[in-house]
Amino acid sequence: MQMRYKSTRNSQLRLEASQVIAQGISEEGGLFVPECFPDLSSELPDLAKLDYPTLAKTVFSKFLTDFTEEEISTCVDQAYTPEKFGGPCPVKLHALPRMGEDKCLLELWHGPTCAFKDMALQILPHFLTTALKKVGRGKEAVILTATSGDTGKAALAGFQDVPGTRILVFYPRDGVSPMQKRQMVTQEGANVSVCAIEGNFDDAQSSVKRIFTDSELKQQLSEHGMLFSSANSINWGRLLPQIVYYVYAYLELVRQGKRVLGEPMDVVVPTGNFGNILAAYYARKMGLPIRKLVCASNANKVLTDFIRTGTYDRRREFHATASPSMDILISSNLERLLYDLCGEDSETLAGWMKDLAETGVYSVGGTVREKVQGLFYGGFCEDGATFATIRQLWEQEGYLCDTHTAVAVDVYRQYLAQSQEKMVPAVIASTANPYKFSASVLRALGAEQLSSDDFQNLAALETLTGIASPAQLRALQEKPERFTQVISRENAAAYVLEALGIPT
Ligand SMILES: *Cc1c(COP(=O)(O)O)cnc(C)c1O
Repeated sequence: MQMRYKSTRNSQLRLEASQVIAQGISEEGGLFVPECFPDLSSELPDLAKLDYPTLAKTVFSKFLTDFTEEEISTCVDQAYTPEKFGGPCPVKLHALPRMGEDKCLLELWHGPTCAFKDMALQILPHFLTTALKKVGRGKEAVILTATSGDTGKAALAGFQDVPGTRILVFYPRDGVSPMQKRQMVTQEGANVSVCAIEGNFDDAQSSVKRIFTDSELKQQLSEHGMLFSSANSINWGRLLPQIVYYVYAYLELVRQGKRVLGEPMDVVVPTGNFGNILAAYYARKMGLPIRKLVCASNANKVLTDFIRTGTYDRRREFHATASPSMDILISSNLERLLYDLCGEDSETLAGWMKDLAETGVYSVGGTVREKVQGLFYGGFCEDGATFATIRQLWEQEGYLCDTHTAVAVDVYRQYLAQSQEKMVPAVIASTANPYKFSASVLRALGAEQLSSDDFQNLAALETLTGIASPAQLRALQEKPERFTQVISRENAAAYVLEALGIPT
């Protein structure tokens, strides 16, 4: 069957996968969604026999119906290599026996930049260049990305020297960890640019959104043989690869005898832009037996409040936390969930998004709220509890986890304490290698003295725990800084033209 895509703000639209991936965001500002979700439930016994890359190819082929089988295969084989992901399977399940029955962490950070975003961003460039061969009229793709930290580096690493692409990354000057910054400003590659922007992540993201919708700029690019595309999690090519690991994790529980096919599991996700947890929701829609989706936030608990009240209110203080990749007040991908839950009523949805843009708040009606509450549990965890959780996991399970993962573990515990339902196995998304946030993790383990140099913290954490740090982080210390520019929000468009060598 041919899969076509519509927009959350225009249900009449029908586009092919290539177009959707090349374009990133719909012209009227909506997000692309598939017109239907294939049901996998009857195929699960067969899927259980597949290795990760083959499973990925099978899932992708249901959605990328204007890609050939060979093209999909090439994309997967170039992305999930053992060299890049440390083994034949790019993800790992780690059981936490002390936390009760069959709780496990789904480690998604074995890729080149040590965060889960590699799972999508190592393959997106291949999806994109394949798509552009079909619909790009020979134009070069300019990837524009706002990052709360991990996306930027993962996108840079994914696109580095991919022919036919340029990549520009904006990060909030005050909103990323020293190691995240170091990872970005040392990035190699002839087609990459990195720039700090004054303000927080939402400022950086809204600047990038404005550039995307600037028709004059678009015209200028077009005249120079380029077009904008996005590597942010609003791109369908980012979400799709994330569905696969939830399917894989469930089938792994089945293979390990912890579940019989059809029995449910809970899924817990440390959430920022709502991309990763949305992928789990889509997997559930496709017939994967997921019972509850636990949405874990840090002190920026706009999603917790939304799930509990049905009102999304971004008018609040922004907190810079120890889990910076989740310091987000506008969770873009929530739009896709709401589109689905309101019966694909693009008018109602567009109204909410307009309210959000103009007043900073919107409320969904009782029916949608009840659906949200049936599917999701929302909870939050502040830095103190995050640190305590890291310490507990280390002391009780001998497991070292990062701050984002700790938020998920803590919120899951809250859910268990409050839920009346019987325990089922749970898969908790572990989204970053702990060494990516060495200073916070060290502090959590009780270190009194933190260095202002993150490489010293990394070494100290290694000495304290005896767990090896990733070579790709250690290697950053030797690399020269290539990008030092800081700009104000107003100058983002001018920076883009300059970086692309387009005269103004
Ligand atoms: C991006 C990120 C998240 C949040 O994921 P979303 O898809 O934006 O909800 C959580 N943890 C880490 C380490 C991340 O990099």
